[in-house]
Order: sequence, then C-alpha cells, then structure tokens
Amino acid sequence: MKAGWRKGIVVMVLILAVALFAGSFWQKEQQKVYSRDIFAMDTYFVIRAYGPYAGDALALCEQEVQRLEQAFSVTDANSDVARLNRGECIVPGEDTGKLLGEALRLCEATNGALDISLYPILKEWGFTTGDYQVPEAAKLRELLAYVDYRELPAAQENPDGPGNPENTDNTENSENRGMQLPKGMEIDLGAVAKGYTGDCLIEQLRSEKVSSAILDLGGNIQVLGTKPDGSDWRVAVKNPFDPAKQIGVVAVSDKAVITSGGYERFFEQDGKTYWHILDPQTGYPSERGLLSVTVVGDRGVECDGLSTALFVMGTEDAVEYWRGNARFEMILVTVDGRLLVTEGLQDSFTCSEEWNAEFIYRDEFEK
Ligand code: ADP
Ligand code: MG
Repeated sequence: MKAGWRKGIVVMVLILAVALFAGSFWQKEQQKVYSRDIFAMDTYFVIRAYGPYAGDALALCEQEVQRLEQAFSVTDANSDVARLNRGECIVPGEDTGKLLGEALRLCEATNGALDISLYPILKEWGFTTGDYQVPEAAKLRELLAYVDYRELPAAQENPDGPGNPENTDNTENSENRGMQLPKGMEIDLGAVAKGYTGDCLIEQLRSEKVSSAILDLGGNIQVLGTKPDGSDWRVAVKNPFDPAKQIGVVAVSDKAVITSGGYERFFEQDGKTYWHILDPQTGYPSERGLLSVTVVGDRGVECDGLSTALFVMGTEDAVEYWRGNARFEMILVTVDGRLLVTEGLQDSFTCSEEWNAEFIYRDEFEK
C-alpha cells in the first residue's frame, strides 16, 4: 500500500516536471524572433516574425514579395502593369486583377484624389526615375488629357482580345477576359502596391501559423496580432519636419499604420520643394495644407490608398471624408505645424513632448 502511494507521488511529480518543462520550452519558442530584409518596390522591407514557425514563413514571404513585385512593377518590362502600359491586351494575373479592382474602388471613393492613371505625369516630373524636372505647364495640360481613372477598363472584354469567344485567334484561356488601356493612358499602382503586399504577407504568415509579426514596408507598418508578450505593438509616427524624430506613437494590434508624406520623395528647384504626391486635377504636387497623413485601419491596401488620397484632399476635405467613413482613423500634420488626431485614437496615441495633439470628433460640435 505504502509503495503504491510512493509510486503515485513519483509519477505525479514527473508529470508536473514534464509539463513545466514543456510550458517553458513553448514559451521560449514563442519568443523566438526571425527577421528578414528585402529590397523591393524601390525601398527596403523589414519583416520580423515570432514563434517556432516564423523562420519557414519568412522564406515564403520573400518569395511572395518577389512574385508581387514582378506583377506590379512599372519598370520590369514583363510585368502586367508594364504590358498594359505598352498598350497590350492582356489577361491580368490574379493579384494584378485584385489590386486593380481595389485601386479603382478607392479612386472612385475618393472622387479622383487617388488616380492610378497619373503615370504619364509622374514620368514627366521624373519621379519614376529620379531625373527630376519641373515640366512645362503646356506639357502638363497635354498629358492631363490622358489622366482619368473613369476611363480605365475594369478587366473588361476587348473585342479583339483573347477573352472574346468569337475571336478564333484566342491565345489565352477563352474563359478569361482580356484587358487593354485606352490609347495613351498608363497606370501606376505605386500608391497602393505596398499596402496590398502587406495584406498578402500578413495572410501568408497567418496561414503558416505565425501569430505575432511586424512588417515595415518602406515606412508602411503592418502588424499581425500583438507582441509575443501579449502587449500592443508601439508604432512611431515620423515628424515630417524632421523625419529622424517622431510626433508620437500609436499602440495597435492587427492593424496597418500607413503614412504618406511630402518628405518621402522630393526635389528642390529655385528654392521651391516639389514632392511626389500629385494632384490629379492639376498635375502639380498637391499643396493643400498637409505635410503628412497617417492612416490607421484594418487593411493595408485601403490605408495606403487613403493616405495618398487624403494628402491630396487637404485638411478640410480629409476631415470631412473621415467623418463620412467609419472604417479608419488618421493623424494629420499640417504645414503650419498642427497635429490633428481623430477621436478613435484617443486611447492609443501618445504624443511626443514637443507636440500638442488636437482631437477631431465625428460630431463636429462635440469638444
Ligand atoms: P510612398 O510610396 O512614398 O510610401 P504613397 O503611398 O503616398 O507614398 O504613394 C506615392 C506614390 O503614388 C508616388 O510615388 C506616385 O507613384 C503615386 N502617386 C502620386 N500621387 C498620386 C495620386 N494622386 N494618385 C495615385 N497615385 C499617386
Ligand atoms: Mg499610399
């Protein structure tokens, strides 16, 4: 009887020890960090992921980035976008089709503040190559005739394209529909491609059983879950007057925090600064009182497109747009040094000492 008792106790102690050991081993595994730097889409991507599956997941992420870059690049002659810009009739790949659909919806929703058909004008300014110049006003007027997202086809049939079942010269799957841009029009998905890529990477990491990760895609931050210890990620928002400093920090989990700013790509000529976010109405850099716009929301592609569009809209229209849309929050920095933060970030935004956040409310009379 006594011996039976002793045996029982020994077995229990053993089970407890194994459980404790397994528990601390699992905890250590969860804290394991893997990170990868990738040069893509003309910028640096840094992906940091935690847990035992993160190493393999990151290798897949790198492939995913390369695959998406090959589809969206304007400079790679074989990309879907480059082929469309050459006037070819193509059946866009799945991701190009999806991103085009998302981008066109955002162009519409923002009433053309975002316009993916701006590419001929961006080229003229040299923002695509770094050979900057201020274009002639007449040249811009001439090119503006080719800028209008409403004229872009939504992956629709082309009478001579491979999608038409009556076209006997089908070279591609006749179920698919070909797409061709109107003559002279060219597109650039640069305002939304990184956000879309971020969404794909988050999806990829999730499906590889990773539950904690942070992506910095050239300043676009997207986070998966929380930090491994369960606390929120703390994402710094840059000071557009001095990008080495920050205006504050937002605490988030499962969110995208995406900034468009005049400081990211610009040149100076005759004492004037010209930046890479253009007003599709005029063809000139948008100067409507904003220096940077940070959008916080669930989907990278939407936050990316909106940050560019809200920058173009300017302070007042951006605030009005936000009031009409419950799906995102934002942080605006104006050229005269004001910091405007929407009410949904009241608990998560911590302002740096030298800044003073003014909160904006949905109901404009609430203060
Ligand atoms: P970044 O790529 O610097 O992070 P954005 O997401 O704001 O910043 O995208 C800016 C890019 O989008 C520009 O480099 C240009 O290629 C393109 N672009 C500029 N203005 C517009 C606009 N009004 N609509 C659509 N695309 C734009
Ligand atoms: Mg953008």
